[in-house]
Amino acid sequence: MDLRDSIRIIENFPVEGISFKDITPLLADGEALREAINQIVNHLKDKNIDMIAGPEARGFLFGVPVANELGIGFIPVRKPGKLPYDTYAVEYDLEYGKDRLEIHKDAIKPGQRIAVVDDLLATGGTVAAVSKLIEEVGGEVASLNFVIELTDLNGRDKLQGYDINSLIKYD
Ligand code: AMP
Repeated sequence: MDLRDSIRIIENFPVEGISFKDITPLLADGEALREAINQIVNHLKDKNIDMIAGPEARGFLFGVPVANELGIGFIPVRKPGKLPYDTYAVEYDLEYGKDRLEIHKDAIKPGQRIAVVDDLLATGGTVAAVSKLIEEVGGEVASLNFVIELTDLNGRDKLQGYDINSLIKYD
């Protein structure tokens, strides 16, 4: 099965010039969804991962099933004002716009090995911010996993030294 067949491309969404990769056909197809989750799980299964972290909202869609399959927990990284307990926050640039993400201060025990899961690697700003939050609360970023990577945006340059795994690449 080619997971690429389950991605729908919408040009100029949400703003002019962005070629949006729509994952809803992949989510709608049980076989493709299972394949995507299995591929991420296979990449992580021998890496001694303690927990999965994923950013709101599409990181949740893939992160929780991966955590469930590995028998480990999930840490939500959220937009401002959503997490109820004490948080750390970081501001970052998006492919379109600016944003801020937060993590609970007690989300990770010192030295725990955390794998990040998100839908897509574009500029790398989001996952660099997530990695910074994980490190700030004492975790080790053991792997960064994406369903899709937009290679032209050179997100990997921002993420040097990290293990990076993406299932589908577009240039
Ligand atoms: P970035 O921080 O630039 O790596 O962007 C990552 C996040 O923005 C991803 O988690 C996606 O949800 C979203 N995103 C950025 N660019 C696109 C795109 N071309 N198509 C779909 N989602 C995108």
